[in-house]
Amino acid sequence: MDEFDCAVIGAGVVGLAVARALALAGREVIVLEAEGAIGTGTSSRNSEVIHAGIYYPQGSLKARLCVEGKEALYAYAAERGVPHRRCGKLIVATSQAQVGALETIIAKGRANGVDDLVMLTRDEARALEPALECLAAVHSPSTGIVDSHALMLSLQGDLENAGGVVALKSAVRHADCTPDGIVLRTDDGTVLRCASVVNAAGLSAPGLARGFAGLPAETVPGAWFAKGNYFTLAGRAPFGRLIYPVPEAAGLGVHLTLDLGGQAKFGPDVQWVDSAEDLVVDARRGDAFYAEVRRYWPALPDGALIPGYAGIRPKISGPGEAARDFVIDGPQRHGVPGLVNLFGIESPGLTSSLAIGRHVVELLAQ
Ligand SMILES: Cc1cc2nc3c(=O)[nH]c(=O)nc-3n(C[C@H](O)[C@H](O)[C@H](O)COP(=O)(O)OP(=O)(O)OC[C@H]3O[C@@H](n4cnc5c(N)ncnc54)[C@H](O)[C@@H]3O)c2cc1C
Repeated sequence: MDEFDCAVIGAGVVGLAVARALALAGREVIVLEAEGAIGTGTSSRNSEVIHAGIYYPQGSLKARLCVEGKEALYAYAAERGVPHRRCGKLIVATSQAQVGALETIIAKGRANGVDDLVMLTRDEARALEPALECLAAVHSPSTGIVDSHALMLSLQGDLENAGGVVALKSAVRHADCTPDGIVLRTDDGTVLRCASVVNAAGLSAPGLARGFAGLPAETVPGAWFAKGNYFTLAGRAPFGRLIYPVPEAAGLGVHLTLDLGGQAKFGPDVQWVDSAEDLVVDARRGDAFYAEVRRYWPALPDGALIPGYAGIRPKISGPGEAARDFVIDGPQRHGVPGLVNLFGIESPGLTSSLAIGRHVVELLAQ
């Protein structure tokens, strides 16, 4: 049996950010990743938006870690040359009822410490984005976009410079939580005893934790999968900012995001699925996108939406239930020394990744 100080399960953006933070804090770290490369899970199937931190309930981990993570991410990306752009976004009201909702969004944002939101009239919004149709809008100047792969490579580089390692094709199958440490078993028969283990296995995190011997079962939530489909725009985008409708249940509505090359995509929608492997985009779902998008961009041409890709939200509440906060459980919560479980790290997990790293280091130091 090999001995290690810390093992992080999963090399997505969150696992890598946690591993980096632990290594920079002086811990000996190994990242165990099931696949043959880093970042092939949800971290490569999202909108790559640096969220401002507007929508989440005041005092929640999502609100706190998003706002803290956003600032940390902008500073880190600038320092390390990770491609990013603070392009800003408009949240647009296309009905009178939604105009009222914009006031609530501004108040929610302010309560979370997002104090740069500005209400715009239709004309002010159209002066910024002439192709836009709306009754009013909120401008969020601190929203941006980031190259998530470049970010993950940079985090991995920092981890390795600090003495950490990433072991690919090393799927963890089981853990025994013993008084002498946490014993991990991987698919290839490797057995590791670690003082600390961080379960950052994304969509698999609850299922994996359910098999941890010695972890109280009632501390592991259920897992649901909410697929988000994207359709890319054929041709040039007529917008320089991200455009979001007023949010709907379970997602943020069919919004327009841009990548750093200027390619526009619409989505993600919300499709509850039974399997975390269900990643094919059904072209027929595009029909509903046209109506949604034309509410704020009436000039969207017929046939311009092309099936893109899909990502799956690691939900810990089911269809029709209220969205839950991030669950980041340390020993104080479940009673197993050295173990931290990360459950339900959906959006804004990418934005929050550096702040989650700091938070986990603090939990393990307590
Ligand atoms: C459609 C969609 C859009 C989103 N848009 C945004 C956005 O714009 N901005 C934002 O901030 N956030 C966004 N998010 C959220 C963000 O993508 C996630 O919060 C983040 O990527 C989660 O990273 P992770 O490292 O926890 O998980 P993952 O990236 O899924 O990584 C988990 C890793 O664990 C590995 N693994 C699984 N099981 C095992 C095992 N048994 N042993 C070893 N390894 C294992 C997997 O292979 C994977 O590499 C979005 C999410 C979705 C689904």
